Amino acid sequence: MITLRKYTEEERPQGCGGCYDCKLPYNQFPCDLNIQDELWEKINPSFRRGGGLLCPNCICKRLIALGLTAVRVTVDLSELFLKQKEGK
Ligand SMILES: [Zn+2]
Repeated sequence: MITLRKYTEEERPQGCGGCYDCKLPYNQFPCDLNIQDELWEKINPSFRRGGGLLCPNCICKRLIALGLTAVRVTVDLSELFLKQKEGK
């Protein structure tokens, strides 16, 4: 069972930032999922409104933990796009 844990500023991933739950660095996210603000607040891993960062996998895990199985998301592919352009 997934618990929707909240992290304090001290507990959050240090450095360039990454997923609060699994610590995956942001530049290794396969893509970025954007969900509605009100939905984000339900799974927000930080105590700051609009704060926190979760990878796509952990966003899905938290949504599922809330019983949400059909959610409208926007997939932001800009990071992937840049990597492909740079041949990475
Ligand atoms: Zn994660």
